[in-house]
Amino acid sequence: MPVAPFKTIQNLINGQFQAPIDGHYMDNYEPATGQVYALTPESNERDLQQAVAAAEQAFPAWANTAAEDKAKVLHRLADLIESNQDDLAKAETIDNGKPITLAKNVDIYRAAANIRFFANALTQFSSESHAMEDVAINYTLRDPLGVVACISPWNLPLYLFTWKIAPALAAGNTVIAKPSEITPMTAYLFSELCVEAGLPAGVLNVLHGTGPSIGAPLTTHPKIKAISFTGGSSTGTAIKLATANQHKKLSLELGGKNPTLVFADCDFDRTVEQVARSAFANQGQICLCGSRIYIERSIYKKFLHALVKQVEQIKIGDPLLDDTQFGALVSKSHMQKVLSYITLAQQEGGQVLTGGQSISIAGRCKDGYFVQPTLISGLDNRCRTNQEEIFGPVCTLQPFDHDDEAVSYANDSAYGLAASIWSQDINRCHRIAKQLNTGIVWINCWLLRDLRTPFGGMKASGSGREGGLEALRFFTEPKNVCVQFNY
Ligand code: NDP
Repeated sequence: MPVAPFKTIQNLINGQFQAPIDGHYMDNYEPATGQVYALTPESNERDLQQAVAAAEQAFPAWANTAAEDKAKVLHRLADLIESNQDDLAKAETIDNGKPITLAKNVDIYRAAANIRFFANALTQFSSESHAMEDVAINYTLRDPLGVVACISPWNLPLYLFTWKIAPALAAGNTVIAKPSEITPMTAYLFSELCVEAGLPAGVLNVLHGTGPSIGAPLTTHPKIKAISFTGGSSTGTAIKLATANQHKKLSLELGGKNPTLVFADCDFDRTVEQVARSAFANQGQICLCGSRIYIERSIYKKFLHALVKQVEQIKIGDPLLDDTQFGALVSKSHMQKVLSYITLAQQEGGQVLTGGQSISIAGRCKDGYFVQPTLISGLDNRCRTNQEEIFGPVCTLQPFDHDDEAVSYANDSAYGLAASIWSQDINRCHRIAKQLNTGIVWINCWLLRDLRTPFGGMKASGSGREGGLEALRFFTEPKNVCVQFNY
């Protein structure tokens, strides 16, 4: 599967690769160079009608395919992702700007793991029964929903695409999936692998395009029974409002502004290293990155200096090089947004401790979208820099005096996705984990994921949970059947 220097991406509808019906394409940029290197279809409602018809037609046969046979196709797909790991990682890096080692070890590795997980899970999925002594028995049927929509963002393109598609297919639904228009390439390569793996025509349809051109019509299409969406909180709200009178199932995985709580008794050196990683992995463009770092006052200065030193060692460079740790931001407009927040932070009284600038990397990446990893101190918790999601390499540092203050800073946010706690007092860690208003809490670790666990956020970070059985439950409709004995 060679990655061609220039590609024209196509939609997958009913097992066929096809151009958008109206023939409109958009430029697709390589963020590390700022150059156009591919064309992406700008699909619209005409493409959608075809995809919906294909998915509807494919639904009964796929829903009734034996679990073992569905699992076989999904395992073949996971095998193909693994055997094409290097090409997929290269494609992800070119499309997104992320370091190639991250693309290989996290994005592509986990995409295959997602598919394999749900291939196995679907053969083990079962439903409940509830006995009423000797009166009756209730059992729960869990049927697939029909045609569902999976919409994903640009930060972990293939990984989050498969995170939704795998459980939707495993549960017996047919799918119309829309990747981000900014990073469409691995979704396209993935659609080729789906055909190669033998996924029947119409079971997965992939439509490329923008939010307005195809995302919005997809969500409001009356035949779409459920929407699994990952993206920004304002887009999540728009989808909620647009579908309010349609009674669809919604799973919304939205933005974050995640707190990192560092206590004086943490394992200092390891914590410095891991806090830097949690702040700046993927250039800070992971919804789970810790962007508000709270440090117990007795170690505040020492930790701040050590963290600055650690961050200044991060190797920024051409993301295609194996030793690069920090690549380009995903787009020019996103780079400008991140830089505008650094300016805002300074206007709000913040002091840039390290970073703060866009940079040019000599050679082929001289026009790429690079911003230094940036640490800022001296800001109030309520200021916009600390309250709004930046989704880039910008983190703030604040001291706290006691546990309750740390918890109240952490919870003082419209968001509630993830948090991390760094301390060797395990009783404190448990106590604080329970008090934090986030869907995920890591204790002395970050981004450690067990695919069986529920994943998602509270407040503006979304509603519903994905992952493991939660995802299979979301993509099925429970129906209780009550049978009376002795009728
Ligand atoms: P967006 O909300 O801008 O876009 C997400 C997807 O939705 C894209 O495919 C986009 O299309 C599409 N879209 C845009 N408008 C609509 C609409 N009205 N109806 C339907 N679909 C639409 O998010 P980003 O791509 O900018 O991703 C970054 C955001 O995602 C951050 O806020 C981040 O926190 C969040 N995120 C959350 C995660 C979680 O698990 N909670 C994980 C990863 C990211 P297009 O962009 O192509 O126009």
